[in-house]
Amino acid sequence: MDYFLRKKIKDLLKNPESAGIGSDVTVKGWVRTKRGNKNVAFIALNDGSIIHNIQIVADVQKFDDELMRQITTGSCISVKGKLIESPGSGQKVEIHAEIIELYGTADAETYPLQKKGHTLEFLREIAHLRPRTNTFGAVLRIRHAMAYAIHKYFNDNGFYYLHTPIITGSDAEGAGAMFRVTTFDLDNPPKKEDGSIDFTQDFFGKPTNLTVSGQLEGELGAMALSLVYTFGPTFRAENSNTPRHLAEFWMIEPEMAFYEIKDNMDLAEDFLKFLISYALENCFDDLEFLNNMYDKELLERLRSIVNTDFERLTYTEAIDILQKSGEKFEFPHNWGSDLQAEHERYIVEKHFKKPVILTDYPKDIKAFYMKQNDDGKTVRGMDVLFPRIGEIIGGSQREEVYEKLYSRLKEMGINEKDLWWYLETRKFGTAPHSGFGLGFERLILFVTGMSNIRDVIPFPRTPMNAEF
Ligand code: ATP
Ligand code: MN
Repeated sequence: MDYFLRKKIKDLLKNPESAGIGSDVTVKGWVRTKRGNKNVAFIALNDGSIIHNIQIVADVQKFDDELMRQITTGSCISVKGKLIESPGSGQKVEIHAEIIELYGTADAETYPLQKKGHTLEFLREIAHLRPRTNTFGAVLRIRHAMAYAIHKYFNDNGFYYLHTPIITGSDAEGAGAMFRVTTFDLDNPPKKEDGSIDFTQDFFGKPTNLTVSGQLEGELGAMALSLVYTFGPTFRAENSNTPRHLAEFWMIEPEMAFYEIKDNMDLAEDFLKFLISYALENCFDDLEFLNNMYDKELLERLRSIVNTDFERLTYTEAIDILQKSGEKFEFPHNWGSDLQAEHERYIVEKHFKKPVILTDYPKDIKAFYMKQNDDGKTVRGMDVLFPRIGEIIGGSQREEVYEKLYSRLKEMGINEKDLWWYLETRKFGTAPHSGFGLGFERLILFVTGMSNIRDVIPFPRTPMNAEF
């Protein structure tokens, strides 16, 4: 019964009138701090529904001494009491406790979050407890709101959510190194006569891996439903220990029949602006906290993105800008070389000072499926580059002409047997189409102003780290 009576702290703080000032309420949560004297205790209680705590005022005499001693930072309690207007300046309402029930203690000597002000690095080592900090509470609530907003945007715009497989039988997706999926006993896998491993005896009868992208399957969906998107986990076994790469991350991949590259850019820009406005409208308390704690320009930066037209230019024009910049870069930036993060950030942060969409990349640095331009040198790829992040979206118009796609695949040494099903979409009712991939954690990095991607996913997977 009690369960249904629990009030969320968010509702009490944001809308105390509807809860009824003067009425009895029950709240449950984790103690952030307790202070006071021998007569009265002030307990700051948080239940994760909002960044703010509600103040519990307890008349010490009314409660058991042992209970009062056990209410320490980190302990979990249920409080029934009167909701009253707070005389203090910090909050609108507080609760005068009548009944306190202790669910779980947290020994002050050993509870790792006893004190405030831990570094983000330390918090990564206690990923099982860090959701209880203000910072991770804020990040996780924003992450939720963004996931919801993504589904809302696509649903409102007539896209269908397509579930693409996580285990894939094609290693030709080309987006990065893969994790093998097998049920073999690794000490003793079945062998063929020539000594090589016999995958026909593996679970799927062939080698399988964790997916690096849902795009190829997404295209199959778009060739029937017109507008689809995927939103799921993707895996890359690259040993890139950077603040922007995870081995397991979430990706959003819309795929649209009848969209050409310009439509693709328009969608990407509108989508990102929608998500950022959604965060500003729905996550303000959390953003304000992060703004004050970590990144004083966060709110201003988010607002400016919503009101700016993204700059659109070709790769060739970007190379020209880099070459004329007079800037010293670590990596080369000749036509034909892949742009490094330093180049992307120069173009976005120093040159244009706003988001940039680059198109028409040299075909040799892009995937086989990108639509070839008539110049024979470039393809209709598109990367959206953001301040602080670099590449947030990578996409393209897809090659829809069978012969062109086939010859490119051959040129790049990809085994057509793995992709016969993909090629068939170009044989039967092919159509111009486009799509892109948005890295969910890169989006959350941008929206929260956090600087390390390990701090925007609950349980990060990176090289040498899969503890929690
Ligand atoms: P990068 O060049 O930044 O390594 P990429 O070109 O390999 O990225 P794509 O294959 O284009 O990435 O993937 C689409 C999007 O997925 C990227 O724009 C980025 O937002 C995100 N992404 C890619 N790799 C990772 C990763 N290892 N961790 C988190 N997000 C990623
Ligand atoms: Mn990319």
